[in-house]
Amino acid sequence: MIDRLGRNITYLRISVTDKCNLRCRYCMPEGGVCKKEHTEMMTEDEIITAVEAAASLGITKIRITGGEPLVKKNIVSICRRVAAVAGIKEVCLTTNGILLPELARPLKEAGVKRLNVSLDTLDADKYAYITRIGKLEHFLAGLDAAFEAGFEKIKINAVLIGGFNDNEIRQLADLTKQYPVDMRFIEMMPMYDSGDFDAQAFIPYTKVLDYLPEAVSAERDGGVAKLYRLPGAKGNIGLISPVSAHFCGECNRIRLTADGKIKPCLHSSDEYSLKGLDFDGMKQVLKEAIWNKPAWHGDLDAVHRSQAGRNMNQIGG
Ligand code: SAM
Ligand code: SF4
Repeated sequence: MIDRLGRNITYLRISVTDKCNLRCRYCMPEGGVCKKEHTEMMTEDEIITAVEAAASLGITKIRITGGEPLVKKNIVSICRRVAAVAGIKEVCLTTNGILLPELARPLKEAGVKRLNVSLDTLDADKYAYITRIGKLEHFLAGLDAAFEAGFEKIKINAVLIGGFNDNEIRQLADLTKQYPVDMRFIEMMPMYDSGDFDAQAFIPYTKVLDYLPEAVSAERDGGVAKLYRLPGAKGNIGLISPVSAHFCGECNRIRLTADGKIKPCLHSSDEYSLKGLDFDGMKQVLKEAIWNKPAWHGDLDAVHRSQAGRNMNQIGG
């Protein structure tokens, strides 16, 4: 469906849970999530009805995210049923990778086409620090499992954090020479409560290229990342700049939270509830949400924090 500004909305990102088995410092508080009543969260059937309603309005691509989607008990069933909805051409999933050794193969068989995995550092101590409770070896085992299950075009996402991983940009970028992966660097977004990092920690995407002088620009793949390639590499370097060079004018996505709220813009407090509605009700609300998608996310910096009213684990990134 086309929104009131002429953008064609074809992409729905679904957060299936706000819970996570890690506690990344820029994403969620150390204590985890405030427990919500089970009855407030979308059921599997409601998620499928929402996808059917979205598909009837022209949504063709779904990304399953979270929190950590793989901690959700029925994740394989959700992916299988989403992939089977008429009109859905592509189901992708974003994960921290920790549970991929058990789940990569079932997810592939369920119809998940592509995986994005998150990795901010290649140093085991720094990984333990940034995730508060994670082990790098578990991530690496997950990445191996994804390759073994036959996933292709895996994308690795790193959040750029000054003073933490800017000295690893070269090493992370070189992963594209070792593996057939895209390595994507994402500017850190100032969420309302993810306060471990101050303004000094923000690095604009342009800084990445200072570390990679030999990178040449590559053709865009339809996503929001600006693409570059290192000589001899098997995959691209992606630069994602939600803060310093926003891409709201070409945004084609909306989001569904685990408690059933459609967020037409990641950083807006506008939310439209689907919880408890049937197909027709959801379709009506989706139409309204898409039509009213905000023009842009407003200023984002240390002073102007995100107006989302939620942390990233409650939206899905
Ligand atoms: N748990 C999964 C994962 O980590 O891949 C999926 C959910 S996570 C919220 C999705 C993506 O959002 C991750 O790549 C994460 O690094 C990114 N993210 C979280 N908080 C962020 C922030 N404040 N700024 C930029 N990216 C953020
Ligand atoms: Fe969990 Fe992903 Fe947020 Fe890290 S970025 S705390 S893995 S939801």
